[in-house]
Amino acid sequence: MELSPVCTDGISSNDCLKSDRGNRRSRIPRDVEMDIESLYKSVPQLAKVFHIMDKIGEGTFSSVYLGEAQMRDGRREMFALKHLIPTSHPTRIAAELQCLTVTGGRENVMGVTYCFRKEDHVVIVMPYMEHQPIVEIIGSLSFEEVRLYIYHLLKALRHIHQFGIIHRDIKPNNFLYNRSSRMYALVDFGLAQGTADTQIELLKVDLTGLRKVPRPVFGERNLNSCTQAPSTTKPAAVKTELVKSSKTEDPATRRVSVASRGPLPVRTQSSIQKPQRTVQQGLTCSCHLTDRVCNICMSRKQQVAPRAGTPGFRAPEVLTKCPNQGTAIDVWSAGVILLSLLSGRYPFFKASDDLIALTQIMTIRGSRETIQAAKAFGKAVVCSRELPRQDLRVLCETLRGRRPSPADNVTPLPEANKAAATTCRLKIPDDTPTHHLPQRMLKQHKDVETLPKQHEQSGSTGPACPSKQSSQTDYKAEEDERGWNRVPDEAYDLLDQLLDLNPCTRITAAQALQHPLFRGL
Ligand code: ADP
Ligand code: MG
Ligand code: ZN
Repeated sequence: MELSPVCTDGISSNDCLKSDRGNRRSRIPRDVEMDIESLYKSVPQLAKVFHIMDKIGEGTFSSVYLGEAQMRDGRREMFALKHLIPTSHPTRIAAELQCLTVTGGRENVMGVTYCFRKEDHVVIVMPYMEHQPIVEIIGSLSFEEVRLYIYHLLKALRHIHQFGIIHRDIKPNNFLYNRSSRMYALVDFGLAQGTADTQIELLKVDLTGLRKVPRPVFGERNLNSCTQAPSTTKPAAVKTELVKSSKTEDPATRRVSVASRGPLPVRTQSSIQKPQRTVQQGLTCSCHLTDRVCNICMSRKQQVAPRAGTPGFRAPEVLTKCPNQGTAIDVWSAGVILLSLLSGRYPFFKASDDLIALTQIMTIRGSRETIQAAKAFGKAVVCSRELPRQDLRVLCETLRGRRPSPADNVTPLPEANKAAATTCRLKIPDDTPTHHLPQRMLKQHKDVETLPKQHEQSGSTGPACPSKQSSQTDYKAEEDERGWNRVPDEAYDLLDQLLDLNPCTRITAAQALQHPLFRGL
């Protein structure tokens, strides 16, 4: 697979644009200016086409820049330039690119215009789509906007799922939304994997561990959003412990135990968490730092139980390391997004690791239900304290401030304190490497905090904190105007089906689009 230009039409060199580069740059921070300078140095071809104006996104695996190009007809067009970290494995890069080229440019999936490469530097050029970070607008969205947003997200998912692509990182940051023009675009196939029958050739390769650095939990910095809550500063809602199955559970303490029933597949322990193996992979395969995919990489099997994405959006089968993960994991993430939008809280689940995330899911969906679902996909979850399932309408309306919270401005959820007192435990076989769940987590989460309290305090935004100038009554009137007094049962019914704990019975994106909630669309 060569990382060659996808399309050479339309872009011409524009030396004239370079002349005003200095002026524009004076308005951007010095460090960004330096990054742009070094990008021009790494990929000199860029300068012939683009005037890079700003950095618009930065994660562990890429930096995204805004670039302007002069087209042949004289128009100037904006592009997003995604510069992948040079240590990314070429197969991973090529797979990301292939997902975009095969599925993109339609059905709410971002297209790709071009791809530049010089040595190990790859820049994916996409049409620039202006967008508003959800965290900034969640408090002012109307119910109709939410309905449309989810509809379009599901459309994108149906589309990529038809190609056998599991995105694995569905979250608002990866689903660009332009509120005024009502445009939507799914981006970032950097963690995508293929289903067993995927049509994407490069997703047939085991891409596990081809990212050199572990994906950050909250490390993704979206430069468009200045209000995004800083990451791991907040203690999580529950204590987390990791024990080997040989050790016995402590019955004296209230614990939720997650035990894997039967032997875990050998490959379950993803090499993403094993830096050692990752390095080895780079050394043993012959395509590392080349633009080819070697036979070793082509013949790698799909990883059995990959763990990727952002904990708060991960499906229960991902959190419990179920080996058979399919497109249903993206549907779960869409459900978490809908839950977030209906309740007006973003992020909804804020967990720094999988065990905390699983316990937070239990506080909403019920511990007994979670146990039952896990059983269905072959995982034994033991819970010594019962966390009842929440009624989704009551939950969302309470979090929206439309219903009085049971313990009045302390915790909107009656069971929250119980959840906080619950310790989540993952029992794993002895052969499982444990270093991917760092020791510091054991200490970090000693501070017990309830889930809803965390929502109140942790920088999660939502309409329950109206601005000072508008009174509570005005605020409710505004909310009503935006349709929040008329949320149909269908919305919560769909939410319930998206957040089905069992991936086998979970609604698919295609089915969800037929849901009565979307009548008339
Ligand atoms: P990463 O793998 O580092 O998360 P993404 O592909 O998700 O990279 O891009 C990071 C951010 O850059 C996105 O969240 C978005 O804000 C911005 N971005 C990416 N692609 C585009 C685009 N085509 N148009 C506008 N902004 C984009
Ligand atoms: Mg992203
Ligand atoms: Zn290789």
